[in-house]
Amino acid sequence: RYSSRGPKVCVVGGGPAGFYTAQHLIKARPDVTVDIYERLPVPFGLVRFGVAPDHPEVKNVINAFTQTARHERCSFYGNVNVGKDLSVAELQEAYHAVVLSYGAEGNRRMGVPGEDLAGVYSAKDFVGWYNGLPSCGELGPDLSCETAVILGQGNVALDVARVLLSPVDLLKKTDITQPALEVLEESRVRRVLIVGRRGPTQIAGTVKEVREMVNLPNTRPDMLASDFEGVKEALKDLPRPRKRLTELMLKTAMETPGEKEHERREKASRVWGLRFYRSPVEILADPERSSRTAGIRLAVNKLEGSGEEARAVLTGEMEDVSCGLIISSIGYKSLSIDPSVPFDSHRAIVPNNMGRIREAPGLYCSGWLKTGPTGVIATTLNNSFDTVRSMLEDMDSGTLNTSAAKPGSQSINALLENRGVKPVTFSEWEKIDSEEVRRGAAIGKPREKLLTVEEMLQVAGK
Ligand code: FAD
Repeated sequence: RYSSRGPKVCVVGGGPAGFYTAQHLIKARPDVTVDIYERLPVPFGLVRFGVAPDHPEVKNVINAFTQTARHERCSFYGNVNVGKDLSVAELQEAYHAVVLSYGAEGNRRMGVPGEDLAGVYSAKDFVGWYNGLPSCGELGPDLSCETAVILGQGNVALDVARVLLSPVDLLKKTDITQPALEVLEESRVRRVLIVGRRGPTQIAGTVKEVREMVNLPNTRPDMLASDFEGVKEALKDLPRPRKRLTELMLKTAMETPGEKEHERREKASRVWGLRFYRSPVEILADPERSSRTAGIRLAVNKLEGSGEEARAVLTGEMEDVSCGLIISSIGYKSLSIDPSVPFDSHRAIVPNNMGRIREAPGLYCSGWLKTGPTGVIATTLNNSFDTVRSMLEDMDSGTLNTSAAKPGSQSINALLENRGVKPVTFSEWEKIDSEEVRRGAAIGKPREKLLTVEEMLQVAGK
């Protein structure tokens, strides 16, 4: 199947960055072959395990990724954990170039006392749980309380708030997992506060996600007028997308609603609110059940400076909020998977110059591992294309030597076989895909995901 000549490249990680890197390489050079190694038996990274179940349109990128994976010069090998099953040095032996695009699988901690109490979850785990990430299957979040506090105001925080408050009838038609649906069906959460360190003009979420909250059936907003002091006056200086977002929040928080909206809000049984200028100081234990949380202590901040660069500084004032569920959504974090690869642990990225990993010839990076965990899929597309451009320049200039023959997947597959690792090919993933779609169709969902690696491997015929 392989052309024996031409550069052999492998990509580590089968998320958007991995697929866009492969797609662009294949398109740019008719002689290049690309192999994608992915830790899980299933592809697509956060498109499958991150993107909210009620955002099916975002997942359409899977169609393009599938085209790439089916290309005759591309191969997918799932169920291969690089750093464990294979070292990066072994991949470098076998390929002319290795692109690391394994994303950001770690979690930033809040670093406050009480963070490990029961009832406190990271958004990463919570999202993984409702999206069927095998490692989060046992999370079983306790949704028996009335108030939930989400720390962080990015789109992930807004996704979590929406899933917590969405009518279950809406979620039933999505690919959210059945166990998550059952827990949400029994949920007693009625009020969700989404807390941020800075003010409304610094919120990290975008207008689409905030609007979805504003329009969420059976909910009404609950904002504090004091959070919006001076915001109207600041509007005229804001760049356009931020201006639209701020106007939407101002309108929601401050304007008296029209009759229809008033009626809708009156009938709503669930409440959501953005809370600004607050940082977590301590997670408070329940006096009766000391291993559980019963609230959070927040420090009240003020801003120093203005615009995107404004800094939150403490005022010394504190505020306690009673709640039984706390979800921290303050960011994902890349991890080092192989000690031989340079890693900047302070910034939690691989140090690179336009995707060339510093002091590591032949090694490249793309996606969240390259930039840090920010930006949407389109941002990941652009930065993956930039990495490919760097690699092509290096091939053209001879900095990246592609003249010596390399064995590619042939030698890697032999290594994997020796180690008892069974890679899942793309056509084997397609068996999993069909099974999931079949199970979903039976209950009116686009798919019902397989929840364990064991079951995935079994359906793949491994
Ligand atoms: P990932 O998608 O994380 O892919 C990395 C892949 O590498 C994974 O498949 C992982 O299993 C694999 N991997 C990890 N370690 C190894 C290893 N050791 N060996 C082999 N493989 C490994 N963007 C939008 O445009 N719209 C949205 O609605 C949206 N919603 C989001 C919701 C959430 C909760 C999150 C977290 C992000 C969302 N994004 C959204 C952003 C989008 O998901 C990212 O921009 C994109 O997924 C980053 O791509 P990536 O390939 O760098 O990382």
